Amino acid sequence: MERTEINQFGEFKLIDHLTEKFVLHHENTLLGVGDDAAVLIGGDQNILISTDLMVEGIHFDLMYFPLKHLGYKAVISNLSDICAMNGIAEQITVSIAMSNRFSVEALEELYAGIQTACNLYKVDLIGGDTSSSQKGLIISVTAIGRQKPNKITYRSGARPGDFLVVTGELGGAYLGLQLLEREKQIYLSDPNIKPQLEDHKYMVERFLKPEARRDIISLLERIGLVPTAMIDLSDGLSSDLMHICRKSGVGAVIEDQLLPIQNEAKQLALEFHMDPGICALNGGEDYELLMCVDPQDYDKIRYLPGFSYIGEILPAESGIKLRTSSGKEHPLQAQGWTHF
Ligand code: ADP
Ligand code: MG
Repeated sequence: MERTEINQFGEFKLIDHLTEKFVLHHENTLLGVGDDAAVLIGGDQNILISTDLMVEGIHFDLMYFPLKHLGYKAVISNLSDICAMNGIAEQITVSIAMSNRFSVEALEELYAGIQTACNLYKVDLIGGDTSSSQKGLIISVTAIGRQKPNKITYRSGARPGDFLVVTGELGGAYLGLQLLEREKQIYLSDPNIKPQLEDHKYMVERFLKPEARRDIISLLERIGLVPTAMIDLSDGLSSDLMHICRKSGVGAVIEDQLLPIQNEAKQLALEFHMDPGICALNGGEDYELLMCVDPQDYDKIRYLPGFSYIGEILPAESGIKLRTSSGKEHPLQAQGWTHF
């Protein structure tokens, strides 16, 4: 039999490849694989379910990731996926596998972070599974949420002419990670040098202690706005926008100079000899929301703080592109998949 290496496939091609032959057996499975969460018919409100997996050495490095923060973030990344469907998460399950390198006290720290997230976001821990592993720590969280059927936002709902709107600021988490990586290398070369993180607390926090934009979901409800499509920014704006475009069968244009980047993040990017715009486009894990808004609805958010218009949805033929301040257009590049 022929052997195909995993790295010949991208992450998304691999998921498609492995799942394409599955048929849905139940009419109440409205949506299976392919969005931020699955959607099940559940009476007055539909049920939203999302799962994420975090693996030591791939998604986190315990040299600079405190276990409490790790527990918090593992929950947040799932709550964010429920937000991306315009839903509110209500329950989570948590599964862990760990080697005997971890003590009970260490796992208590992890769970203290999980509990903080549960209390802050009012979600109930309802189960999970526990196993030993030969090496390292693995943590998987599943979030369950709800929303009325007509308010659920899919990746597939974008239409040409929709405005592209992003919440908050971009690139901070990526720069926080770069900073932690730099300080780690310095520490490894000389453990007597104290890490210099105080000046950039905001960005380090954006990476170590992100928040899910549940506040935005409540706000959208209050102002009566249902985006035509939505996704949370976990992989980076370019890559996540491409998911919307692929699922909706549309193109898009992003205006480079409209990307919301904090001044401090711009400064730090330059310090690292990186283009701040590229950090905002390709840096992941900001957990902001990217939404497509019908222009007729745009007045509802136009003057609200924390929403930035960054471009528009175009017909598929136009492709997915970035327009610079000089008016030049470039095809948008999504960063590759580097796990393998
Ligand atoms: P997100 O970044 O929003 O968490 P992912 O990129 O992880 O989304 O997943 C995209 C879609 O593929 C989701 O519907 C997810 O449930 C599904 N998926 C991911 N991995 C698998 C897998 N191994 N088997 C089946 N479905 C999967
Ligand atoms: Mg997502």
